[in-house]
Amino acid sequence: MERPHSAGRATRPSSPRGYEGPLPASLVKEYLWCPAYAWLSWNGPRLRAPPHVEVEYSLEPRAAVQLARALGHRGRVVAEARLYSPRLRVYGRVDYLVEPEGGPGAVLEVKARGAWGGGLHQEAQAALYAMAAEDAYGEPFKAYIVSRLEVREVPLEARARALVALSSLRRILAEPAPPKPGHGGLRCRSCAYKRWCPWASPGGNRGL
Ligand code: SF4
Repeated sequence: MERPHSAGRATRPSSPRGYEGPLPASLVKEYLWCPAYAWLSWNGPRLRAPPHVEVEYSLEPRAAVQLARALGHRGRVVAEARLYSPRLRVYGRVDYLVEPEGGPGAVLEVKARGAWGGGLHQEAQAALYAMAAEDAYGEPFKAYIVSRLEVREVPLEARARALVALSSLRRILAEPAPPKPGHGGLRCRSCAYKRWCPWASPGGNRGL
């Protein structure tokens, strides 16, 4: 294995629970997609735009407002809203945030594809955004995944899954090497980190 350029992030303060600092919600999504990918994304080489996470679908602001109203959310719509939850130590920038007004607020996370690979990793990211928004506004929020194929409301169970994944992620980030993933190499073929990954399977299927 060629060594990644730096393991600097792994040396950040950690405890028996793992890395304790703030983490991006997107890293939890990556962890659920492939734990080794999350480790390499955090501890490994900086890649500008890993091919499989490039956004191929965008939601224009006017369409976002229309969608929010159709979903029953009347509040102000904020594009690229930055969120941080001191409680969860999770941050991120959600594509659209609809402020609470006469009902719950909403976060709209735009994805290139629909429920890619089952979509649980996408749901975890959106659920963390919703929780961070609730912490910021003190009001309930719903979360949605928006793609050209569908608009999917994220179930409340996704929050518990996201918190379990966040806890596991904190632990593996403090490890000296990427953990073995459970997908048996099925997600390796188009992975931007396969050059550095000890678990890369060149014959794996494309991202599914
Ligand atoms: S090469 Fe495969 S195992 Fe390694 S990070 Fe990428 S998807 Fe995960």
